[in-house]
Amino acid sequence: MPSDKTFALYNTLTHQVEPLTPLEPGHLRFYACGPTVYSYAHIGNFRSFLTADLILRTARAIGWETTYVSNITDVGHLTEDDYADAGGEDRMAKALRSKEGERFANVWDLARYYTQVLLEDWRLLNLHEPDVRPRATEHVMQQIKAVERLLDQGYAYETRNGVYFSVTSFPQYGKLSGNIASDQLAEGVRDVVLDAEKRDPRDFALWKKDPTHLMQWHSPWGWGFPGWHIECSVMSMAYLGEQFDLHTGGEDNIFPHHDCEIAQSESLTGKPWVPHWVHTRFLQVEGEKMAKSTGNFYRVRDLIAPESEGGRGIDPLALRLALIAGQYRKPYNFTFDTLRANALHVRRLREALDRVDQVAAADAPGPDRVGARLDALYGRTLDALLDDLNTPAAIAAVLDGVKLINGLGDHLNGASARQARAWLGRVNALLGIVYHAAESAASPGAVDPLAAQVDALLAERRAARQAKDYARSDAIRDDLDALGIEVMDTAEGTKWRRKLSV
Ligand SMILES: [Zn+2]
Repeated sequence: MPSDKTFALYNTLTHQVEPLTPLEPGHLRFYACGPTVYSYAHIGNFRSFLTADLILRTARAIGWETTYVSNITDVGHLTEDDYADAGGEDRMAKALRSKEGERFANVWDLARYYTQVLLEDWRLLNLHEPDVRPRATEHVMQQIKAVERLLDQGYAYETRNGVYFSVTSFPQYGKLSGNIASDQLAEGVRDVVLDAEKRDPRDFALWKKDPTHLMQWHSPWGWGFPGWHIECSVMSMAYLGEQFDLHTGGEDNIFPHHDCEIAQSESLTGKPWVPHWVHTRFLQVEGEKMAKSTGNFYRVRDLIAPESEGGRGIDPLALRLALIAGQYRKPYNFTFDTLRANALHVRRLREALDRVDQVAAADAPGPDRVGARLDALYGRTLDALLDDLNTPAAIAAVLDGVKLINGLGDHLNGASARQARAWLGRVNALLGIVYHAAESAASPGAVDPLAAQVDALLAERRAARQAKDYARSDAIRDDLDALGIEVMDTAEGTKWRRKLSV
């Protein structure tokens, strides 16, 4: 049963915080612009994916059904897509020619590799898999059909170089960004116009003719490839219908990508398309714009891979918490200090989980002392998320709950522990910061590659100690130390955790 709670989110289209109102009551259908798989995803990309993940979790927490679609862009995204009609070259082709691209046989191989890495990062940062994850290259026929329809209806025209959407045929073009009417922008766009046959410099490509392109399809206009914007219009409507509730992306998607999507989609159907648009602000790193040139550019890989593989061995859930610690629509400064602080929070959550599991199993008698207070704190967490994803307030309520559980000390009895365990499960369902969805409490780290490595070393150490080979056992401890792992021999057996230094 859906609750009667209101889920309010800022709407870029109306410039205000508004309730999300699913067309079909109690069923949220939404599309999140996904990654272009020409390289490893960076932490800024994931901040935007995490916004979609939190929307999904919050909607489910109030009993809504959800249909969530997020794409993989594997063709057509050009290097200069900051402009409505992009110039430059295909990002995939450029990546293949780069130093990193040397190990791939062709552009398809490169796309496959970076898609797989993306999915691994996605799982490690504990994001739910979308219901559908369509790929642009698998929907080219539908894109061609959409372009044909736009041509038939007079919204598009063909030149020797491609097929273009005519922005004057859609008078509301630019309604999301609000900046299309400015002369300044038109002049900026004029600089990158490559096709002198275009009727208006603002017109953008639906199809690019290019028989030399590394990824090409046969179309009524000859060999070529689809523009980037048309893929999201086509794939979202293929899986969510001609009208759906919400569309999300990074702030860089507002213009041109989303304005172009709106123009195409509403021209295709003749109906208003999506009423609610949510965009995540860029993050800064150590107070500066994240850029390869300033040396503060972090891929998810760089941070969570074990130190032995050149990473920093950071707990993926600590990174997740750090990336959601600031509200999605405020500028957020990602620093190693905040990462350390969040690693400590995640550790406290894990320790609380560990303790309540032990105490619940031992089942010490006594009345429940925490259930009502934890319920109230869960209510605070959920209400904060329903209020435009106010993650700082949501997380503060969770930390109060951890303090409450840990503050019980020896008074934690079986009944309280069971309440606390249930609360940790609900908090995890909502924020994903206690354990991975695929894990059980008995084997935390089941999806963490570092965990597998550590478990193997610990098994070897156990064997060495049984054989009284203490030199070997010490050497393994040193290896674990080098991996950034702290080993604790306790009455319940050997435990380990990541060190907090990053
Ligand atoms: Zn998109």
